[in-house]
Amino acid sequence: MFGNGLAQLFWGISALVRTLVYIVLSLVMTVSLFISTSGNRFIDHPIWIGIILVCIAVGGLSKSKATISENDVFMEYCKNTVWFNRVFMFFGKELYMNPEKAKDVRIYSQNTVAEKMLDKLITHERDNQSDITKMALYPAIAQIIIGLANAICYLFVAIKALFGAFGVGSIVQYVAVLSRLGEGLQELMYILSDNEVYCTHLQNLFEYLDLPNHMYQGSLTVEKRDDNEYYVEFRDVSFKYPNTDTYVLKHVNLKFKVGEKLAVVGMNGSGKTTFIKLMCRLYDPTEGEILLNGVNIKRYDYNEYMSIFSVVFQDFRLFSFPLGQNVSASASYDREKVIECLKKAGFAERLNSLPNDLDTFLYKDIDAEGVEISGGEAQKLALARALYKNTPFIILDEPTAALDPISEYEVYSKFNEIAGTKTSIYISHRLASCRFCDKIAVFHEGEIIQIGIHEELLADRRGKYYELWNAQAQYYTT
Ligand code: ADP
Repeated sequence: MFGNGLAQLFWGISALVRTLVYIVLSLVMTVSLFISTSGNRFIDHPIWIGIILVCIAVGGLSKSKATISENDVFMEYCKNTVWFNRVFMFFGKELYMNPEKAKDVRIYSQNTVAEKMLDKLITHERDNQSDITKMALYPAIAQIIIGLANAICYLFVAIKALFGAFGVGSIVQYVAVLSRLGEGLQELMYILSDNEVYCTHLQNLFEYLDLPNHMYQGSLTVEKRDDNEYYVEFRDVSFKYPNTDTYVLKHVNLKFKVGEKLAVVGMNGSGKTTFIKLMCRLYDPTEGEILLNGVNIKRYDYNEYMSIFSVVFQDFRLFSFPLGQNVSASASYDREKVIECLKKAGFAERLNSLPNDLDTFLYKDIDAEGVEISGGEAQKLALARALYKNTPFIILDEPTAALDPISEYEVYSKFNEIAGTKTSIYISHRLASCRFCDKIAVFHEGEIIQIGIHEELLADRRGKYYELWNAQAQYYTT
């Protein structure tokens, strides 16, 4: 929908005013053409006023019809090419131009799949050419009709001069005025039909902007407590993702206080990340409720509520901005504080090696001098970003998955210092890293099946925790 936005509508309105002025002036100047008499009853007959005006109007209307038909074909073409555009963009941009995918494309020869698809696309595009031809045909037909209508007008002026209604010199003037009138009318119809076309696009935009937000928006402010005495409670929470039938969380009940360190463990797909997403209100529970200090979290102002969480998701993203801006998530920031957070996250050494300190761009999308960082370094930066936000809650989803054993050890051993008095929720497969937590919740198939401290959970020899612990421990003991 490029080029059909609001700006185009403003342009259309100014063009409309200009055209209306031209039309009125041309009409005024045409009056003398009709009132001048030649003495010939046929040529002087008032019916000619009607014929000439009809010719001019037909010219204008055919132009407008051509624009609308052209747009209809264009919209139809767009519908047919949605698939084309998506697939083409995927292959062109994602598969061929994305350096992150280059390794897999080469190793697994994905280019052969791409070539087959591109062949199919080209055939599809060829089949669609008839639409393009139609788009050229409509304006051409309109132009022929306009040409014929003009010819009638000019002939009338010439014959009238021939019969002596006015001098030969006036022919040029009247032809010019009639052309101007015709063009003005065509332009008027063109602008009106064009604006109608823009409005169709704008309607799509406004329909999108008006989509209702189904998430309940509360207005309570989150109490900023100096004593950090918050507690969170999941009360019989069940959840299924929108448009799916399976519950990924089932009757989850859990209560924990601020300052506590909660570990969430469980196998892949057991619902750990979903649990975090619900707590941060990225989704609302399907059943049950989540409370902050006894109040349903839906009742808090959404932005206020979000502001008490820092989360490092498993699939976090950094941006091609300077390092300092990435960590602070802001264009202007406290440099000392950023450096302190980077040190806590174990990035100090790498920071010293960067060419422009905190102003070094990450990646090369914006700045050719930008640095590429490894997965582990990125994870440290994501951790530093969470620390910079300095919120009462810090949630880390597999925060050490990409770290080497030494960096992982550093994060664990400094975790108490990193988290300070904050409530921290720590999701990890590595059970050894959860031992220091005050409470461990074991998720299995969407349910919390065990909850307690490490020693208690390990004592239950038939429990999931014992099974998971032993599965991992065997690799370390030998
Ligand atoms: P975990 O973090 O324990 O590995 P998740 O909470 O990510 O597990 O996923 C739990 C289940 O929810 C999985 O079966 C997953 O396929 C499903 N799931 C996760 N995200 C979505 C989503 N956006 N839409 C539908 N299903 C999802």
